[in-house]
Amino acid sequence: MAFALNTYPITYRSKFTDGKWPQEYLEKPHKTQEEEAAMSEDARAKLENSRNHYEDMPLVNYTSQYGLACFEGLKALPQKNGGLAIFRPDKNAARFARSMEGLKMPPFPDKLFMEACIETVKRNAALGFYPHYESAWEKDSYMTANSVYIRPFTIAEGGIGVNLSSEPYVMVINTPVSSYFSSGRSDAIVSDKVRAMPNGTGWIKACSNYVISALAKSQALKDGYMECVFLDGTNRKYIEEGSSCNIFFYLKSGELVTPELGDTILPGITRESIIELARDKGIKVQERKISIDEAMEEAKECFVSGTAAGATPLTSLTYQGKKAVFNDGNTGELTIEIRDTIKGIQYGKLPDTKGWMVKV
Ligand SMILES: *Cc1c(COP(=O)(O)O)cnc(C)c1O
Repeated sequence: MAFALNTYPITYRSKFTDGKWPQEYLEKPHKTQEEEAAMSEDARAKLENSRNHYEDMPLVNYTSQYGLACFEGLKALPQKNGGLAIFRPDKNAARFARSMEGLKMPPFPDKLFMEACIETVKRNAALGFYPHYESAWEKDSYMTANSVYIRPFTIAEGGIGVNLSSEPYVMVINTPVSSYFSSGRSDAIVSDKVRAMPNGTGWIKACSNYVISALAKSQALKDGYMECVFLDGTNRKYIEEGSSCNIFFYLKSGELVTPELGDTILPGITRESIIELARDKGIKVQERKISIDEAMEEAKECFVSGTAAGATPLTSLTYQGKKAVFNDGNTGELTIEIRDTIKGIQYGKLPDTKGWMVKV
C-alpha cells in the first residue's frame, strides 16, 4: 500500500484537560485537491510541512522521547452507489480505548472516536478532498482502488523524565491512500527478531512496538523478500504475525488456521472479520497455535490480513534456509475468495448484511 505524503486539510485534536475532552477541528493551509495533485513533489512537501506546524504543542514529551503512544488505522471507502463509508469504526474505537488503558492513559470515549473519524472525513470531503469511485476498480477486485486512510493517534503532554501520560492529546488525520499490490510473487522470510514478549505490549497498538517491525521488514526487503513473519519469543517455534498484520494458513486438511490471540498478538479487526466470513462460507476456522514446521509442511495457501493489507497472499515462506512454496507460487482460491468478499463489502459492491459499514 502506498501512503501519499499529504494529509487532508482538516485535522481533529482533543487535549484531555480537567477530566474532559474538548473538541477542535483545525483547518490547515490548502489548495484544491486537483491543484495539489498537479503540484510538484517539492511544492507539495512544502505545503505539507506548513500543515504540520502545531506550535502550541510540546516538542519534548513522552511520545517524542520514549515512544509512549498508541494509534489506530481505518479506512473510509468510496461506495459503488455513491458517498463514503467507514469499515467497522466501532471496533477501532474500542481497541483505541483499550490501548490507551493498557498504557495507563485516560481512555478516549468510543462515541468521540466515532464522531472524530466521521467528522474529519465529512469535513475534508466538503472541501473537495475525497477519492471518487471508479468502476474500473471492480475489474481487479479493488487492487488498485483508492480510499481515505484515517489515522487516530495520541501524543503525550510535555515532559522529559520517563513517565506515563495522564493528559494526552488525541489527534485524527486523514490522508489519501491507494491500495497497491504487485501482481508478482510475495515471498516471506521468518525474522530472527522478537516482536513481542509475554507480559509486554504486543496486544496494544503501541507505537513502540513498530520499531522491531520496521527493523525486521527492512532486513527482509534487503534480503529480497517482501514480508517477514515473527515467531513467538519464548519457544521460537509458533507463528505469531506478519510485520504489522495478522496471518492465516489454509491447510491441506481444509482448515483455515490463524494463531490464537494472547498478549503478544494484535487483535486485528480484519482478522476477526475474515474468521466470521470464512465460517459463513462453511470453512472450518481454528484459532490455535501453529508451529513453523506445521505451517511449512501442511499449508496450501497463506495470506496476511490488516486494514492496509486487506488479505494479501504470501506465496512462500523461508525459514533456516528452507523454503515452502504455497499453491505453486500463485494466489490460492480461498485467498482470492476471502479478498473479493471483504473488498466487495468494503466498497459496497456486495451487500453489507452484517451492518459493518458506517456511512459518512
Ligand atoms: C494494526 C495491526 C494489525 C491489523 O489490524 P487491523 O485491525 O486488521 O487493521 C495486525 N498486527 C499488527 C501488529 C497491527 O499493528
